[in-house]
Amino acid sequence: MTEKPVLLWFRQDLRLADNPALAAAAAAGAPVAALFVLDDDTPGRWRWGGASRWWLHRGLAALQRALGDRGVPLILRRGRADAVVPQVAAALHAGAVHWNRCYEPFAIARDTTVKATLRAAGIAADSHNAGLLAEPWTVTTGAGAPYAVFTPVWRALRAGATVPVPTAAPKCVRGLADAPAGDTLADWRLLPTSPDWAGGFAVWRPGEAGARAQLDAFLDGLDNYGGGRDRPDRADTSRLSPHLHWGEIGPRQVWHAALARAEAERAPDAAEPFLRELGWREFAHHLLYHRPEMTERPLRSEFVRFPWQDDAAQRAAWQRGRTGYPLVDAGLRQLWATGWMHNRVRMVAASFLVKHLLQPWQHGAAWFWDTLVDADLANNSLGWQWVAGCGADAAPFFRIFNPVAQGERFDPDGAYVRRWLPELARLPAPLIHRPWTASALELGDAGIRLGADYPRPMVDHGAARAAALAAFAEIKRA
Ligand code: FAD
Repeated sequence: MTEKPVLLWFRQDLRLADNPALAAAAAAGAPVAALFVLDDDTPGRWRWGGASRWWLHRGLAALQRALGDRGVPLILRRGRADAVVPQVAAALHAGAVHWNRCYEPFAIARDTTVKATLRAAGIAADSHNAGLLAEPWTVTTGAGAPYAVFTPVWRALRAGATVPVPTAAPKCVRGLADAPAGDTLADWRLLPTSPDWAGGFAVWRPGEAGARAQLDAFLDGLDNYGGGRDRPDRADTSRLSPHLHWGEIGPRQVWHAALARAEAERAPDAAEPFLRELGWREFAHHLLYHRPEMTERPLRSEFVRFPWQDDAAQRAAWQRGRTGYPLVDAGLRQLWATGWMHNRVRMVAASFLVKHLLQPWQHGAAWFWDTLVDADLANNSLGWQWVAGCGADAAPFFRIFNPVAQGERFDPDGAYVRRWLPELARLPAPLIHRPWTASALELGDAGIRLGADYPRPMVDHGAARAAALAAFAEIKRA
């Protein structure tokens, strides 16, 4: 009797270590073929944006090499995954298909269909957890309901010794020798051509080896995280977000590596602030699972009535980093240049769009979706709803970040602003976050023509704050 091959369907789990779907496929002992489907239909408006496509190209190239070294072919196909996966499985005469779960609402619906189609065709279908510390349905209140706030989720994760220890890549996988040909990566045209706006993305090294190297480098400075994580002028955060999003490293690997490093350095608390952020990632994914509407609608229903304004010109100035507030503009330029923005600056820049300009948070979320290499539906929706004050466990709306005070506190020497706004680089530190207060002489010395080289503030902070609070009062009154 000939053995039926096993099909391994990769999605946001582009790695070999701690990959339960791969482990299950390898354990079957049958020949394995891998598949990745570029599906631009199923996600609708949440299909991968430009920066994600850049990452995907590089990440898949790395995965294809790593699988190739083990003799496992990676078949690339384009189309609706709910049709392509059963087709490829049937063409291979596969006995089973394995994949790791995703939690976006469209992914859950798609995977349910794929599972039913495969099983109806007599092909086994099994999904696994590679992306979360704990499944969303396992962290609940005593009554079995999902938590609406972060702290009990965090306590549940931290209290139970429940985070499974990661597994190594399987030593031996039998690759399928005569896999059918698929597309080439070049066919998909994922990389920008003219203009190639991704020159600054060279700071990243997509792929499992790059993720591991990034984790190791970060752990060498783990002690700095607690004190430095809010400082955009320092490199104290892990920058693992795109690797975690694409599953080039898993949260269990990161969690246990941080704990082990803290223990080795006899500083058991050193990992806590960092683990807590992994907890926020977990919370975001659990929330998306239980409240799938959070990608489109405010979780606090009174915000449906919020009198947002719709001003495309203001949004364009924000997107280009031309608001006249240096910390906001530096963040948006960092985002455009590198596909990433520091968390503190994400909060300030997002708050400026929502509260100073009164633009709907969904527009900001869409811009981030297109420009972030770590664009992640759960984390991005949580982040924007948090900033807008309309989400679960969100910052209260009436707390409005002052972009000048935030800059002076978290970028005290202005090094971050100087890096991303070279036109301001020669301003002295006391003026760098408020160039409009500089005298004509000071501006002249720094070589700046305000309004030409760099814009004047597009809104006055005090007036914008008052307008935001008045708009908030309206929804409270109604
Ligand atoms: P570290 O500080 O080193 O944290 C480690 C990991 O924990 C991160 O890689 C990330 O996976 C997770 N994490 C950290 N902070 C958060 C958080 N607040 N919420 C959820 N998970 C977190 N993160 C994304 O991964 N994708 C997004 O699309 C995204 N959009 C955001 C939008 C807004 C408006 C805001 C305010 C935040 C957003 N974040 C998003 C969360 C956060 O800004 C990034 O995860 C973080 O800046 C990534 O940098 P790092 O890897 O160095 O983080």
